[in-house]
Amino acid sequence: MAVVSVQQVSKIYGHRLSLVNALNNISFEIKSGEFVGIMGPSGAGKTTLLNMIATIDQPTHGRVLIKNQVVSRMREARLANFRRHELGFIFQDFNLLDSLTVRENILLPLALDKFSVAMIEQRLAQVSRVLGIGNLLARYPDEISIGQRQRVACGRAMITKPTLLLADEPTGSLDSKSATELLQYLTVINRQEKATILLVTHDAFTASYCRRILFIRDGQLFSEIIRNGNRQQF
Ligand code: ADP
Ligand code: ADP
Repeated sequence: MAVVSVQQVSKIYGHRLSLVNALNNISFEIKSGEFVGIMGPSGAGKTTLLNMIATIDQPTHGRVLIKNQVVSRMREARLANFRRHELGFIFQDFNLLDSLTVRENILLPLALDKFSVAMIEQRLAQVSRVLGIGNLLARYPDEISIGQRQRVACGRAMITKPTLLLADEPTGSLDSKSATELLQYLTVINRQEKATILLVTHDAFTASYCRRILFIRDGQLFSEIIRNGNRQQF
């Protein structure tokens, strides 16, 4: 089943004399359980494309469907709810709240839902195990390493079991060891939790963890690599 369907999407910024054609007639699908990377140089349109799928921006032409719902036409009130249940976000700068513990940060997305304490604890334990952060739950973000912070941010993104995990340059602030670790954890999340993951990066090493890589340049998809099985080592 297609989780995401991007249909002839174009995005034009600005007006009159200063138009930027950030996306030019892009179409592709992402199926359930895929681990997809969008790669391209700075200014290629990666963030713009991710924002369309993240439902935080609308295309000028074309439409975006997530789970067969046309999110590019949805009203904001419904969209907020849709986003909270169906999408998980991982940012380059983590966006953790410094005044909350790791545990509180991870549970934040559940604050508006009425789940039982037992269910919440069970899910928290599950997520902590997958990400290896069980011993960090009582700490504050400034008491843990940068790499651990990004794993906590993953935990927060995963806690609701979203249909789709979206990550914009998730390794952008990490050294190569932490980046590798994070990518290995994302691989585990993809396999064990059957999470569909879409990440955007300009970094080839990061993209190499994706099972399918779409290359974008000047707002257009120009090639695609589909890889079977494991990462190839050179
Ligand atoms: P990338 O994420 O690949 O670096 P972006 O999606 O950020 O690329 O940008 C694609 C193009 O659209 C660039 O030329 C950028 O300057 C332009 N752009 C992005 N956001 C805006 C905006 N809000 N207003 C005008 N132009 C924008
Ligand atoms: P990225 O790290 O993805 O390349 P940028 O630094 O290009 O991000 O853009 C940062 C923010 O500024 C984004 O929200 C983007 O939409 C906006 N932006 C980028 N280019 C322009 C532009 N030419 N005019 C207005 N806003 C822009």
